[in-house]
Amino acid sequence: MSRRQSKHLAAPRPLSQSSLARADLKADGRWIVRPMSGASALKAYRCPGCAQLIAAGTPHLVVWPDTPALGVERAVDDRRHWHTACWERRL
Ligand SMILES: [Zn+2]
Repeated sequence: MSRRQSKHLAAPRPLSQSSLARADLKADGRWIVRPMSGASALKAYRCPGCAQLIAAGTPHLVVWPDTPALGVERAVDDRRHWHTACWERRL
């Protein structure tokens, strides 16, 4: 047998977790919401809902507009980190 199967070659992984994203309808439009686990939250973020820091290691939500704002090339560039509770409270 001279041919070797290349089963062991790992396929490139797609960017993680995008399949878990969901869309939320708020007063100002549609937003894509992706939960971030505490293990993935490596740094602190400022929550736009309460203006408090989301400490590193805290599970929270990453949110970006379904439709990019004017001047923003990719909606993902406009993403924000929210406390889960703050996002739920938002209208
Ligand atoms: Zn908050």
